[in-house]
Amino acid sequence: MVGALQIGGDAPVRVQSMLNTSTNDTEASVSQAIRIAEAGGELVRATTQGVKEAKNMAAIRQLLSQKGYAHIPLVADVHFNPLVADEAALHCEKVRVNPGNYAKTYDEIEQKFTAFLQLCKQHHTAIRIGVNHGSLSQRMLDRYGDTPEGMVASCMEFLRICQREQFDDVVLSVKASNTRVMVYTVRQLVAAMDHEDMHYPLHLGVTEAGTGEDGRIKSAVGIGTLLAEGLGDTIRVSLSEAPEAEIPVAKRILALSAKYPAPAGPLEYRRRHPDAGVVRVIGSESEIPAGWQVVEAGQPVAGNVPTVVHWCYNGVDFEEFILEGAVATGRYFINGDADGLWIEAPNLATDKVQRYAYDLLQATRARMSKTEYISCPTCGRTLFDMETTLARVKAATSHLSHLKIGVMGCIVNGPGEMADADYGYVGAGRGTISLYKGKTCLEKNIPEAEAVDRLVALIKDCGDWVE
Ligand code: SF4
Repeated sequence: MVGALQIGGDAPVRVQSMLNTSTNDTEASVSQAIRIAEAGGELVRATTQGVKEAKNMAAIRQLLSQKGYAHIPLVADVHFNPLVADEAALHCEKVRVNPGNYAKTYDEIEQKFTAFLQLCKQHHTAIRIGVNHGSLSQRMLDRYGDTPEGMVASCMEFLRICQREQFDDVVLSVKASNTRVMVYTVRQLVAAMDHEDMHYPLHLGVTEAGTGEDGRIKSAVGIGTLLAEGLGDTIRVSLSEAPEAEIPVAKRILALSAKYPAPAGPLEYRRRHPDAGVVRVIGSESEIPAGWQVVEAGQPVAGNVPTVVHWCYNGVDFEEFILEGAVATGRYFINGDADGLWIEAPNLATDKVQRYAYDLLQATRARMSKTEYISCPTCGRTLFDMETTLARVKAATSHLSHLKIGVMGCIVNGPGEMADADYGYVGAGRGTISLYKGKTCLEKNIPEAEAVDRLVALIKDCGDWVE
């Protein structure tokens, strides 16, 4: 239970979003929370960087309730400081902690997390154990590397303490911006829980999915694939847009996953055919190579010949098309089951349909054909305007199809969570940016006005620029 809201069991899948206002700005936060609730959001999360923000959750709670939204639970998002989690537990219905940065040693985790759970019990506060790819603790990295195994181990370590303390109001998340990593890790987490006879609800999300079509495709592929398998109890679509814009997308993904359920029974993996070469986009039936088979979206793949997945959309709504195609066909490429994608949409422009097919293969990491942008969804820590910045970075670099570029709102979580980006543009302070190559910061605190040009210069200096 999160306040009066049930998550898991026979409850419907809950839809949520996160504020990007300053958590110290009560009025702005409450206004945005109301917009999320009015759009259909059932939980609202806010970043709590410090004890001051955690304390102000009480004021947000009070005003939100006064305005008639007492039923919307508030969730505090905590990183790095267990004291902030303790404070937030007094004022919110739920607190998210990140095992990657909660405490350094296991002894410290055990002591502080156990005390935190006692506090949560007293105040009827639920928790989320929220692990992210790219921000595992050094202890886990040393043992497992930045892998699904490490993410699952990190989550299970905290979960076992919850079990021991008989604390049950727990939701789990293992997120990544790479949709394959996200899907495989959730499946592994479920298997690990089953192995220990644990059955806690899951929060699903693709981190740093981005904006516009790409963000929607990535979210629909990752979240939709798992929902179709019956996994997931609450979802958050992370878009670098207004938080309330996430809600209708989440609801659509939810409905579409019911329309395209995965076959019952254990998942059967089929390797891509060794002779098929690069994953193909098929424009028409005549382009299907001899000897290949066609499987309709939603049907299982069998047989040992190269396989084209076919999906036909007869509607006229491009946004609907984007989401439905990703839910219907994305899983085949996430799982490595198919060698080609053939989409027909007679009422939409052919060039848009063709481009979408390439974007979908990119979102599933089946085939890279353009620059990959990993942008954070923004929150109260964000240090610049994400939408305009992302547009400027894209305008300067969108022809670099071999690169992944991270655009992250803050230096606290940004460098870790841009995970496998080749270059990073990260908010360092108000009006200042730091630039990264991989995980290494190469330029610190440069003025924001110069930052895109300096990023271009850095890519050139490192030999990764092509004209
Ligand atoms: S990376 Fe973005 S979403 Fe994550 S904490 Fe920083 S500003 Fe917030």
